[in-house]
Amino acid sequence: MKSVSGTVSTETSTILSRRLKSETQGEVLFDPGSRGRYATDASIYQVMPVGVFVPRNDRDVACAIDIARDLKVPIVPRGAGTSQCGQTVGAGLVIDNSKYRHAILDVDAEKRTARVEPGLVLDHLNAALKKHGLWHPVDVSTSAQATLGGMAGNNSCGSRSIAYGNMVHNVLGATAWLSDGTEVGFGPVASLTGRGARIADFVRELARSHRDEIEANWPKVLRRVAGYNLDIFDNQNERPYTGDGSVNLAHLLVGSEGTLAFTKDLTLKLVPLPRNRVLGVVNFASFHAAMDSAQHLVRLGPSAVELVDRIMIELALSNPVFRPTMESALIGRPEAILLVEFSGEDKPALVKKLKELVALMGDIGQPGSVVEMEDEAPQKNLWEVRKAGLNIMMSLKGDGKPVSFIEDCAVPLAHLAEYTAALTDVFERNGTHGTWYAHASVGTLHVRPILDMRRDGAAKMRRIAEDASQLVRKYKGAFSGEHGDGLCRGEWVAWQFGSRLNDALRAIKQEMDPIGLFSPNRIIDPPRMDDTGLFRFPPPGSKHPYTVRPLQTVLDWSDWNVQNDPVTEQTSSPGSGGDAARGFAKAAEMCNNNGHCRKFDAGTMCPSYRVTRDERHLTRGRANSLRLALSGQLGEGALTSRAMYDTLDLCVSCKGCKRECPTGVDMAKMKVEFLAHYKKEHGYTLKDRLVAHLPDYADAVSRIAGLANLRDRLPGLAWISEKITGFSARRQLPRWRNDTFWAAHDAGLFSGREQTIAAAPKAAALFVDTFNATFESENALAAARVLKKAGYTLYLVQKDQGRHCCGRTFLAAGMVDKAKARLAALIHEVLPLVRAGVSIVGLEPSCLLTLRDEALSLGLGEAARTVAPQALLLEEFLAREAKAGRFALSFRPAPAPILLHGHCHQKAFGAVAPILDVLRLIPGAKPELIETSCCGMAGSFGYDTDHYEVSMQMAELSLLPAIRRNPDAVVVADGTSCRHQIAHGAGRQARHVAVLLDELS
Ligand SMILES: Cc1cc2nc3c(=O)[nH]c(=O)nc-3n(C[C@H](O)[C@H](O)[C@H](O)COP(=O)(O)OP(=O)(O)OC[C@H]3O[C@@H](n4cnc5c(N)ncnc54)[C@H](O)[C@@H]3O)c2cc1C
Ligand code: SF4
Ligand code: SF4
Repeated sequence: MKSVSGTVSTETSTILSRRLKSETQGEVLFDPGSRGRYATDASIYQVMPVGVFVPRNDRDVACAIDIARDLKVPIVPRGAGTSQCGQTVGAGLVIDNSKYRHAILDVDAEKRTARVEPGLVLDHLNAALKKHGLWHPVDVSTSAQATLGGMAGNNSCGSRSIAYGNMVHNVLGATAWLSDGTEVGFGPVASLTGRGARIADFVRELARSHRDEIEANWPKVLRRVAGYNLDIFDNQNERPYTGDGSVNLAHLLVGSEGTLAFTKDLTLKLVPLPRNRVLGVVNFASFHAAMDSAQHLVRLGPSAVELVDRIMIELALSNPVFRPTMESALIGRPEAILLVEFSGEDKPALVKKLKELVALMGDIGQPGSVVEMEDEAPQKNLWEVRKAGLNIMMSLKGDGKPVSFIEDCAVPLAHLAEYTAALTDVFERNGTHGTWYAHASVGTLHVRPILDMRRDGAAKMRRIAEDASQLVRKYKGAFSGEHGDGLCRGEWVAWQFGSRLNDALRAIKQEMDPIGLFSPNRIIDPPRMDDTGLFRFPPPGSKHPYTVRPLQTVLDWSDWNVQNDPVTEQTSSPGSGGDAARGFAKAAEMCNNNGHCRKFDAGTMCPSYRVTRDERHLTRGRANSLRLALSGQLGEGALTSRAMYDTLDLCVSCKGCKRECPTGVDMAKMKVEFLAHYKKEHGYTLKDRLVAHLPDYADAVSRIAGLANLRDRLPGLAWISEKITGFSARRQLPRWRNDTFWAAHDAGLFSGREQTIAAAPKAAALFVDTFNATFESENALAAARVLKKAGYTLYLVQKDQGRHCCGRTFLAAGMVDKAKARLAALIHEVLPLVRAGVSIVGLEPSCLLTLRDEALSLGLGEAARTVAPQALLLEEFLAREAKAGRFALSFRPAPAPILLHGHCHQKAFGAVAPILDVLRLIPGAKPELIETSCCGMAGSFGYDTDHYEVSMQMAELSLLPAIRRNPDAVVVADGTSCRHQIAHGAGRQARHVAVLLDELS
């Protein structure tokens, strides 16, 4: 077998690819881009795999194992790839279980068990179990994307592990392939036969002959996930692995990180969903006191004790959204808070526990330190704040990043205070600092010192790890307490257990995978953690140091082009970061591969992945592809290649990632930058030109509307137009009409003079975009009437008796210069009004919000920055005015329930809450927000012949079914393309909020 950083010959790679294609039904991805997308996980490492295989079924996996064995190519099993230590990166064949192998095979509610395929995501399992009142309780923070196979591989642990244990305590059985192709059932040892029984005998004998060493050297804490679980025959864990003291061989696979066998399916333990939860927030005047109290608090039997330190408290307080929630949890200015949760069936019993907590804090000299939260809503809000704090920390710009490598050392609670103080000193000695948070209940506090892995990070990492390991030894803890071994902790396995036990672990590997097929050189014989050749950003002096190719960008990325101070976290001035791609590369490098964009349930990000489940169509996959191309790792011309085009093609520019990605990866903006370069090299298509120049020709065509609409009237014309233009014949195009806003508007609605309007007590300037002006003039007219009825003096943003344009359509086609010219003219037009305090009010989210987003990246200077905060959507303006008591129109009740679909850009800019606020001004209205991602139309995206299917699949994810389920509802959707999609897919006419308000006022 090749070593982990070795390479497979081109000839072997070609044969492997050919055989996988001919002998399996799976997807075989051996192109540089795909390999690059699977070369990283949420660690600091990067290793190019020989190829990627995405099996469709069990037979595919078994076949791939046989082929890889024949060709002596290592296999790296993979779920969501969210491991923090490099478990899923390796030079072999990566097998991705997450796309097709995610079935729930069986649920036995009586016995409280579920059998699942390894690619199933935890949240998806728990959503399906809800109806049985059950859940699988290993609630990892990455529950929305982590797969059960990956969780078992890493022996993952959740916030509530003190109540439910780790993965090892919650796996009841597994079926897995060994490297010789044998399929083995792993379960209770007493029930095993054949190969399973022989493995059990082997491990039992090893455990027997190493009993003294195990007793002496095995960490006695709940959170030990290093090495293999040789202690299953002689449990050293604080919590028994099984309820009845029996031995289960499946527990040997848990935490083995794909190095012993390839999991086919898992049988999991389920527990009843707790009916009630209460939370006590304990405020501490010192961090030390908080740490010292943990040992006392756990005696009350909480389901979680989670830490939030001063830095995170400050981060939350500095955010207007989170401030009220955080303030509600604080008593004075604490240095740390502990979130102490009790859960169970009986609410009064839980409330009693809260009182006991209050009493206990009094007893240990901290009276009056507990904020009691009995209701669900404040608890939920506070948990959200804790998560968000971590996200803000992760979004630090510059090359210094919070690095995970000692983030989960576990020490007995009695030593937690000393341990954290000593480690803080270690950080200081190394010129950095860390923010502490998470699982105080089990002595596993997360902390990531800020290191610059492109410069002196490796040496500091080594020094800090060495010092931390001394502390862990002193306090008899576990070096690897949650996130596994992988590349960054592999070398600490031998350190943790001693050489004799390490040899015993090696013997297990030898017994189960003698040819080293599965993830070789992991856990056993691993490389050094600071082998810079394995880094994602190898520093100068490495064999292939990370460098970025110079690039003249069209957008301004200088905010990303900065460096930071590891102690103060202050960033240098924009543009000073030394990025040869002027900040574009650093923006792409912000993706730390945490995989949050793989979530399916809430929010917008990432609609294309939700449909295709392809790593390529994921924010992470796109960011990685751009990073690799910008740093020359995908070869010459990769940035403007067809492969890169395909990678970005299904990005609908919804800006979901801009808001929801923890590190703020803004793929919509990156797509504009990419398209500008791509189109410059490859030229524009007819469709690009038709879309981009719509604002230029809209007036002229609307004058011959009848003729222009023939495309959708005369049989065959749509088909012909599809062939010529690329607009799908399956779609009707927006209907042209002569009564455009510009033709039909009543000049009496508007005041013509800027001076008059600026002097008016209540004033607004209406920006009517091309879409509403041309195809749905009633929306713009309704907005004008509503404002007028409410007593506003109105100014119409126009030039030469016609439209101004926000440049959106040009940006979508990558025509950045043209967009800039349009925006510059618009900003020039409205600047005097804005300076006079007048807001610019728009109707179409993607158009208006261009003034708040892209306009700031086009080098339009102070003028753009002045206009941006005053550019508001109608609902934002009305909500603000209503709150200030200036908008007080009376409305009639709505004729039917109101269903709201938020446009992606509304969501990205927090403009959904205002529209709900405005709709609630309608008497009796209880607007219901549909939990949707992108509608699939996304400007012109859904009109494209090649995108039609994907577009409809996006709409069918939740939007169209929700509308069909509510046949009587009034559907409100502010996006032009959203309304088209709803009409096309559900046959319903959605309305702009302006129309509804006008009708009811
Ligand atoms: C922001 C963040 C927060 C996190 N929070 C937590 C947390 O709260 N608790 C926690 O425990 N972890 C946490 N993690 C780490 C990680 O998310 C978890 O370990 C998660 O369970 C991994 O799941 P995955 O599907 O991404 O697995 P992967 O990373 O894809 O794989 C994990 C391991 O399992 C192996 N594997 C996968 N499938 C198979 C298979 N079919 N057969 C054999 N081996 C297989 C892989 O080879 C690998 O060694 C966090 C990570 C991040 C980035
Ligand atoms: S794009 Fe954002 S959410 Fe997705 S993996 Fe990267 S950092 Fe995480
Ligand atoms: S802009 Fe939308 S579609 Fe594109 S990567 Fe981000 S979330 Fe995905």
